[in-house]
Amino acid sequence: MYDAVIVGAGFSGAVTARLLAEKFGKQVLLLEQRRHIGGNMYEAADSQGIRSHQYGPHIFHTNLPSVFTFLQRFSSFFPYEHRVLGRIDGKLVPIPFNFTSLEQLYPAEQAAALKEKLLAAYPGQGKISILDLLANSDPALHALGEYVYDRVFVHYTAKQWQQPIEEVDSSVINRVPVVLGYDGRYFQDAIQQMPSDGYTVLFQRMLEHPQIHVQLSCSALSRLTLQEETGRILLDGAPFSGPVVYTGAPDELLGCRFGPLPYRSLEFVFEQHAVTSYQPAAVVNYPNEEEFTRITESKKLTGQQAEGRTTILKEYPAPYQPGASRGSLPYYPIPNKENQALYQRYRQALARFPSLHLCGRLAEYRYCNMDAAVASAMALAEALGQGG
Ligand code: FAD
Ligand code: UDP
Repeated sequence: MYDAVIVGAGFSGAVTARLLAEKFGKQVLLLEQRRHIGGNMYEAADSQGIRSHQYGPHIFHTNLPSVFTFLQRFSSFFPYEHRVLGRIDGKLVPIPFNFTSLEQLYPAEQAAALKEKLLAAYPGQGKISILDLLANSDPALHALGEYVYDRVFVHYTAKQWQQPIEEVDSSVINRVPVVLGYDGRYFQDAIQQMPSDGYTVLFQRMLEHPQIHVQLSCSALSRLTLQEETGRILLDGAPFSGPVVYTGAPDELLGCRFGPLPYRSLEFVFEQHAVTSYQPAAVVNYPNEEEFTRITESKKLTGQQAEGRTTILKEYPAPYQPGASRGSLPYYPIPNKENQALYQRYRQALARFPSLHLCGRLAEYRYCNMDAAVASAMALAEALGQGG
């Protein structure tokens, strides 16, 4: 009855499902263990009618026109440039740290001298890594590096990853640069847009296809069996010969036999406030004293208007503990050599199943943004469609 089974209704699963059904005429069964489609991009309105990203703020930004063009088939978008503020030394200053942040935090003369030195030290570079600034041998620039490292990165990173910053992979820290200018945007990508009616509607339209059969609240493990002796996958106990695309955590497929693959989780706490505006930006980062890392004010992301009411979301980092009441979902792969080696063990063991394809942020153990997830799903669907 089905030509392909897909596990997970986030971007990785939904894009693969759509393309296999529409472009290659496949009958697709899509299994999703949550009660809704959309994966981490899921949005829902609360009792005061304000729509929030339920799993943290998701801002679409990309340099890949093909990804954006594909998504535009399922939603109109509105231009949205994300500007984040961070609470540092009692002030709200732009993050990534830029010349405006410098001017707000340093006396005018010192800020002017530092700007000049920065531009001379890194000519033609619009942004640099905090780790490069820290390594600068000029005493004034080194001191600036230490200040920014401490106030912006050290404590936020310790909260987010529950590890000292020195142990966190530099690729994570380098997601947030130091900007050598006044560009106050969080992202510098050419395309920065948000879906007009939100991600949930976009996903509904993407999955609205007569050959896509979605089953919610269904863990793949309740319907799929990996038969180690034969390398075959069974669907409801019968051999299934079509491709199985899996976008969940790969260790779960093998009962975590080599030990659990580490992920980091989050707790999301929503609050409703009887004010029109809670904070001056959609996201305010709290890199220092507070237990949470950031506060998102929903309507400033979604473009909704609401007088006298607003909804905010606080993010508390948490260890990933499957089945626990706190931190039960895996959100972030934790990039380091040891975890990559463990991931490769699972990948190798799963290579015994030629019809199984691991795809997405969890399954590929890759800290990727939405556009990268969509791009790989498009490529996978193409390869599977051509192959079958
Ligand atoms: P997911 O969205 O995680 O989807 C996987 C799906 O598989 C889930 O719905 C899960 O329930 C389901 N699943 C897993 N196991 C099973 C199983 N056994 N059976 C059935 N279903 C299963 N990216 C950006 O581009 N911009 C941002 O601003 C941004 N902000 C982010 C903020 C946070 C807090 C987080 C955590 C991520 C953010 N991302 C952002 C990244 C973005 O969430 C990912 O790129 C995207 O979710 C990847 O899609 P995916 O389909 O691979 O994974
Ligand atoms: N980071 C930080 N201070 C900030 C923002 C980010 O130290 O104010 C570091 C932190 O280690 C974080 C990483 O940069 O995990 C990546 O930040 P990003 O905003 O990209 O994280 P995401 O939105 O993916 O959670």
